[in-house]
Amino acid sequence: MNFPIDLRSDTVTQPTPEMRQFMAQAEVGDAVIEVDPTTERLEKLTAEMLGKEAAIYMPSGSMTNQIAIRLHCQPGDEFLCEENCHVYNYEQAAFAQLSGVVARTLPGENGVLKPEQFEGIIRPENDHLVRTKLVCLENTHNRGSGKVLPFETVEKITSWAHAGGLKTHLDGARLFNAAVATGISVADWSGMFDTVSVCFSKGLGAPVGSALVGPAEFIRQAKRGRKLFGGGMRQSGIIAAGALFALQNNVDRLSEDHEKAARLAEAVRQSEGIALDVDPVETNIVIFSIEKELGTAAQLQSALSEKGVKVLSVAPQKIRMVTHLDVSMTQIDAAIEVIKQTLPGMA
Ligand SMILES: *Cc1c(COP(=O)(O)O)cnc(C)c1O
Repeated sequence: MNFPIDLRSDTVTQPTPEMRQFMAQAEVGDAVIEVDPTTERLEKLTAEMLGKEAAIYMPSGSMTNQIAIRLHCQPGDEFLCEENCHVYNYEQAAFAQLSGVVARTLPGENGVLKPEQFEGIIRPENDHLVRTKLVCLENTHNRGSGKVLPFETVEKITSWAHAGGLKTHLDGARLFNAAVATGISVADWSGMFDTVSVCFSKGLGAPVGSALVGPAEFIRQAKRGRKLFGGGMRQSGIIAAGALFALQNNVDRLSEDHEKAARLAEAVRQSEGIALDVDPVETNIVIFSIEKELGTAAQLQSALSEKGVKVLSVAPQKIRMVTHLDVSMTQIDAAIEVIKQTLPGMA
C-alpha cells in the first residue's frame, strides 16, 4: 500500500508523466506583450465549454473571484453571498482590502440559500446606503461538504438578481464536480450567471490556475485587473498546458472521486463517535464531526497523520477529507481501516 494517503485537499495532486510531457512541449509566447498560444487555446476551450464569449487564465481562484467582484462593483457597493462561502472566508476579504467593496452574508443550510431570503433586500437608492450590486454563489460548496446547489434554487436566485438589476458571479472552483454529479452541463450551470470562475488545480489535477469567464468586454477589463493584481504572466503556456490537458482528460473521471467520497462517507456513517456533517455526500468532499469524548479534530488529525493518512481539521470538532485523482480506491479502503483502528484508541 502506498502511504501517505493525502486526503487534505484535491489541490495536492501531482502532474502525471503524460501531463508533464504535454507541458514540456507547449508552444509559448509573451502573454503580457501579445499572446501566448497555449494560454489562448486554454481560454478558448474554457469559454466554449462554459458557453461564454471569453475566458482569461489566472494564477488562482481567489484572483478570478476578486477581480470579478472588483469589476461588478464600485467602492461603496455591496455583494450578497452565503456566510460560509470561500470568497468571504478564505480570501482575506480582498474585496474590502483591494476594491473597497463590502460583503453582506446570508445564512445558508450547508451552503444553500433559499430564494425567499433575498426578498426585499436590495437597498433602495439613498445617499445613506451602500449600493447592492452583485450576488455571488458557490457551486459545489466547499464548507457545505461539496454540496451541489439545487439547479432550480440557483435559477430562482439568479433570475431574481437580474430582474432587480444585479449582476451574478459563480465561484465554480468545483463546477465540473457539480456537472458530473448532476449530469447538468457546465454550460447550463454557467448560463445562469454573468461571470463564472473555475479551478484547474482542484479535481481536474492541473498544477496551477483558474479561469474567469464572461462577456468579451468584461474579460478584457479583467485582463487589466489581472495586471493590476500582479497576475500578468508571460510564458504562461507551460502551466496553461497542464490546465488544458486536465480539461481534455480529467473531467469525466471526477465521478470516480465521487464514488471514493461515498465510500468514505459510508465508513463514517458506520463508525461510533463521528458523524457526517452533510449526508449524503454528493461530490468529493467529506466533512465529519468528532464527539468531544474522543478528543479534538486536531488530535485525530495528528493521530491519523502518524499512520500515514492525512486529513484536515477545519474546526475544533470537524475533519475534512477530499478525494482526488491521486488516491486510488484501494487507498481509500486502507484509509478507512486506519480510521477504524484509530478512533477507539482516542477515547
Ligand atoms: C480553492 C477554492 C477557490 C480558489 O482558491 P485558490 O487557492 O485561490 O486558487 C475558490 N473557491 C472555492 C470554493 C475553492 O474551494
